[in-house]
Amino acid sequence: MIVQSERTPDGLLINALGSGQMLRILILGGTTEASALARLLAGDARFSPTLSLAGRTAAPTPQPVPMRVGGFGGAEGLTRWLAAGEIAAVIDATHPYAARISQNAAIACAGLGLPLGSIIRPAWEERPGDLWTQTASAEAAASLLAGDADPRRVFLSLGRLDLGAFAAAPQHDYLARTIDQPDGLDLPPRIRFILQRGPFDASAEARLLAEESIAVIVSKNSGGAATYGKIDAACEARLPVIMIARPEKRHGAVLASPEAAIGWLADIAAHGR
Ligand code: NAP
Repeated sequence: MIVQSERTPDGLLINALGSGQMLRILILGGTTEASALARLLAGDARFSPTLSLAGRTAAPTPQPVPMRVGGFGGAEGLTRWLAAGEIAAVIDATHPYAARISQNAAIACAGLGLPLGSIIRPAWEERPGDLWTQTASAEAAASLLAGDADPRRVFLSLGRLDLGAFAAAPQHDYLARTIDQPDGLDLPPRIRFILQRGPFDASAEARLLAEESIAVIVSKNSGGAATYGKIDAACEARLPVIMIARPEKRHGAVLASPEAAIGWLADIAAHGR
């Protein structure tokens, strides 16, 4: 690919493409927004996207653009991958709790002078009727539960890598919803799994909470509609939610949606940045 490059005074690399050339893009994914962006970019002659997944799920949903799976080997590995692939722009569409990959993307893009755009999903806000207790981490949520004298039915709506923390509160009965069955983790003694991929609507969530006699929910503040059903259902049933706060996450240009990302990329394809 022939890219005409020059640097702005602040060191940003301007990659203006000649006519008929495609802008090579890396999308850091694993989210609804990344998949939506992949669908929007598929077949668009201006762009040549690659969607990157960490490899956390055994059978990821097929996507209409080329995919790669697995870590890059830190910021250095990502820098090498971007340079070797002549990538002209990066979209960080990772989950709000995936802080390390965003940090690596910020370092790699700054080092190479590449434009970085981040699709940032707004957090859910506590409304009247919600019964939230905010905690800093899965470990902090588990230590809150560890203080309970009586066992409760706890719904863990978390990634499987967060579940080990609840071994510290072994008196409870847990129901965990994950995409794949976890293995090799030190888990609480009474835990059952529902293996499901979202979205989940509020009425199905209300049924699940009632059928399973759930007394408390532990959730991340993921934002978006796909997993908000349980928060609505909990509010309706007056159930408490232990809400794990979002980590600090580095980001590039803030893009409100996959559609906004297309506009941002189109600008780079047309004029460089
Ligand atoms: P993380 O803590 O930020 O990243 C840990 C390591 O995983 C990174 O250093 C990187 O390895 C690799 N990695 C993460 N995302 C990657 C991607 N999209 N492509 C290639 N490598 C990636 O991330 P995480 O919280 O484990 O999340 C992993 C993936 O699951 C992300 O893609 C995220 O969007 C998705 N996800 C996460 C959550 C959550 O609650 N954390 C929820 C839903 C979806 P190297 O350093 O070797 O490059």
